[in-house]
Amino acid sequence: MYKMLKDNKNTEWLEIRNGIQSICKEYPEKYWRELDRNRKYPEDFVKALTNSGYLACLIPEKFGGTGLSLRAAAIILEEIHKTGGNGAACHAQMYIMGSLLKHGTDLQKNKYLPLIATGKLRLQAFGVTEPTSGTDTLSIKTSAKKEGDKYLINGQKVWTSRAEYSDLIMLLARTGSKEEKSKNSLSLFLIDMRPHIGKQIIIKPLRTMINHSSTEIFFDGLEINESCLVGEEGKGFDYILDGMNAERILIAAECLGDAKYFIDKAVKYSNEREVFGRPIGQNQGVQFPIAQAYAKARAAELMVIEACNLFDKENKCGTEANLSKLLCAEASWQAAEAAMQTFGGFAFSEEYNIERKFRETRLYQIAPVSTNMILTYISHKVLGMPRSY
Ligand SMILES: Cc1cc2nc3c(=O)[nH]c(=O)nc-3n(C[C@H](O)[C@H](O)[C@H](O)COP(=O)(O)OP(=O)(O)OC[C@H]3O[C@@H](n4cnc5c(N)ncnc54)[C@H](O)[C@@H]3O)c2cc1C
Repeated sequence: MYKMLKDNKNTEWLEIRNGIQSICKEYPEKYWRELDRNRKYPEDFVKALTNSGYLACLIPEKFGGTGLSLRAAAIILEEIHKTGGNGAACHAQMYIMGSLLKHGTDLQKNKYLPLIATGKLRLQAFGVTEPTSGTDTLSIKTSAKKEGDKYLINGQKVWTSRAEYSDLIMLLARTGSKEEKSKNSLSLFLIDMRPHIGKQIIIKPLRTMINHSSTEIFFDGLEINESCLVGEEGKGFDYILDGMNAERILIAAECLGDAKYFIDKAVKYSNEREVFGRPIGQNQGVQFPIAQAYAKARAAELMVIEACNLFDKENKCGTEANLSKLLCAEASWQAAEAAMQTFGGFAFSEEYNIERKFRETRLYQIAPVSTNMILTYISHKVLGMPRSY
């Protein structure tokens, strides 16, 4: 067992870790490998996680969830990744939840949350990125035009993950004018896509380097009731920024899980694999990259804990959320590199899973926010240097 787990004295979390591990045992690496090969969605795994109540951990008990903290959610995702799985199949439900809970109307919460908690309704799609606006969110073009008590949606999103496996979508759209590049021109909508699929909503899957169920979505004259608006019109950008702290912390936790996975695998393999009549792990050239990745991961883990503590106490945590995402993504990549090198040629064999996890963990230096954008945040917002854009 990986040392970090033993070092964690908080038994409260051990219970969750053990619970997730026992679920994950039913979904071994072979399961994920085959899904990856066939670009299939892990339906059974998501069902098991839903039935166990873990997926509804951020839904308050009064709405049928388990009402746990963000720290608990982080541990759930970290543990999934540590066992070789991938929480990306269903993590969006956790981080979208914040916007719905904080800014959604009572009608939206009462209508949707109990159904999401039981798994009867899926909220897994978050539509922000567009072909001409990724990092520059304020320039999105998808429009939501108010007409009486309705909004008319037109436009295109790209990279919207899991849209084919989600009933609802949280959509960021422009309610202000086309030219206006102000945060007050964007609004957030919670839309039940089911009646519109194949009509005013066309979802096209994108084949990518990893099994992430990414899609592009076309909205063509989609008419929705004004009750789909989350919170107030023109506040959508603020709402998603709010939710992004949770997203960054949870994805940091997934990266941490990946780092632990790679380190664990590399250590085991380096102790077992004999070359020149001795374990390769006896060579410092093999040991040191793994030891360095371990040091990075331990430090990054502290930042995740700090960010979760601040978030759960409703304190400001933008800096810590960004730092934890940056450090964990770097730690997971460093650990991935160390594992790749340790496994040598076998790292390239699908059977050993290293190449799959290597591809998967690379995503997190680009999405949901790139390393550069976190560095700009630290430079501008934390250190007070001039804005670069
Ligand atoms: C597998 C996958 C799943 C995704 N899932 C979703 C999803 O579910 N929903 C969703 O809305 N989006 C999703 N995304 C989109 C993701 O959030 C974007 O790819 C990401 O925000 C970067 O946007 P972009 O790809 O348009 O890059 P661009 O904005 O074109 O940037 C390209 C590069 O330039 C750098 N750059 C740009 N501007 C600056 C600057 N001022 N200073 C320094 N560097 C800069 C960036 O850091 C980046 O490395 C997903 C992406 C992928 C690949």
